[in-house]
Amino acid sequence: MKAIKVIEPFNVKIVDVPKPSIKKQDDVLIKITSGGICGSDIGIYNGTNSLATYPRVIGHEFGGIVEEIGSGVTNLKPGDKVAVDPVISCGHCYACRINRHNVCSTLEVMGVHRDGGFTEYVVASASNVHKFHIDMDESYLGLVEPFTIGVEINRRGQITKGDKVLIMGSGPIGIAAMQVAKRNGAEVIMTDLVKERLEKAKSMGADETVLVSEENLEECLNKFTDGEGIPVIVDTVCIPSSFEQCVQLACPAGRIVVIGLKNQPSAITMADITRKELTIVGSRLNNNCFDEVIAGFEDGSLHPEQLMTRSFSYKDIDKALTLITEHPQDVLKIVLKFDV
Ligand code: MN
Ligand code: ZN
Repeated sequence: MKAIKVIEPFNVKIVDVPKPSIKKQDDVLIKITSGGICGSDIGIYNGTNSLATYPRVIGHEFGGIVEEIGSGVTNLKPGDKVAVDPVISCGHCYACRINRHNVCSTLEVMGVHRDGGFTEYVVASASNVHKFHIDMDESYLGLVEPFTIGVEINRRGQITKGDKVLIMGSGPIGIAAMQVAKRNGAEVIMTDLVKERLEKAKSMGADETVLVSEENLEECLNKFTDGEGIPVIVDTVCIPSSFEQCVQLACPAGRIVVIGLKNQPSAITMADITRKELTIVGSRLNNNCFDEVIAGFEDGSLHPEQLMTRSFSYKDIDKALTLITEHPQDVLKIVLKFDV
């Protein structure tokens, strides 16, 4: 079978690899239909993802149709449409014991630390396989994972009805987090440097947008909150200065969710945090958020069709990567199709 493998940075190939088979009782063999290309796949491609090792079959956003199940699998059957959670944890470290397995001390992510889903077939453990209950368009099966990032952000930030939320950055993660926040009943103001992205964000449900290259964010937030200051901030820009800005902009007792994995320090003092008694939390991957996202796709409260910019056959991975690297501002999510 075919798989998309990054041999080393800037060298991606479609290669032949052995088709995986059921080995354990709880294994599930899935024929992959679609996968979403993520910024972290691009990071593996261009050598900036510090977590990745090579060569690697990439893809951590993927789904498909169950082809075969192990003898111990009872909740799935051949023909089921499913999405695969790429998070693999040990089950017994501290984080796993307190139900935070997405930060397991020996965490592995399919498509990053081990081979992923940009391939024709995948075997995954049944506990990582989440099924749809309606006949969902196959293009969207691979788009559950990016929305789980949005659900995790909302859970970590305890975003709920009536909250006023600033989401910095209107890329795919910002949009997914916004859709979930809106579904949760929050009011959302979003920022970006690209006007077209903000227009998209607004058409997808953002209440307000701020073009930070031209508008004063603090003034816009004052207007948005009737002068109170913003209580919840999600930073999807993830640079040292955006983190500093979060701490500066949050109102007293505010909450800040960060998702960045950069190693550069920000200039934040203890007093900045103590004075306002800020809650600053990290949000990484997803902690059993797949079923919530699938329910949102099924009841129409979350919109994968809005996230998908366009699709390519997996055979055109080069074209897809070129589009993303040359026109990043025009792309939210590119979907690769494997059943072609
Ligand atoms: Mn991703
Ligand atoms: Zn663990």
